[in-house]
Amino acid sequence: MDYKFNEPKSAKCLVCSCVQSKERQILKVCNNKLKNIWEFYCDKKTHDKWSFTSASMEQVTQWDKTVNELFDLPPGHFAERKYVGGTWQKFERYY
Ligand SMILES: [Zn+2]
Repeated sequence: MDYKFNEPKSAKCLVCSCVQSKERQILKVCNNKLKNIWEFYCDKKTHDKWSFTSASMEQVTQWDKTVNELFDLPPGHFAERKYVGGTWQKFERYY
């Protein structure tokens, strides 16, 4: 699948360390309006603030090409799915 996001491939995003180490899969995605950054993380309930690290948009779409499905998720929205390949549930967020 081609890279679909409007952001440059080199744009920075935030990922949790579990996703970065590929211990866990990307099940939650936030287009953070306040920080103007995409965030990709697993379904663990809590992460401490040190467990986030930056990656490039291209890296994340290489790890999991199905996140391309969210290229048109508007800023301030959040999406989650139960498993990779599942349907994304989208929500509006205050951030
Ligand atoms: Zn995680």
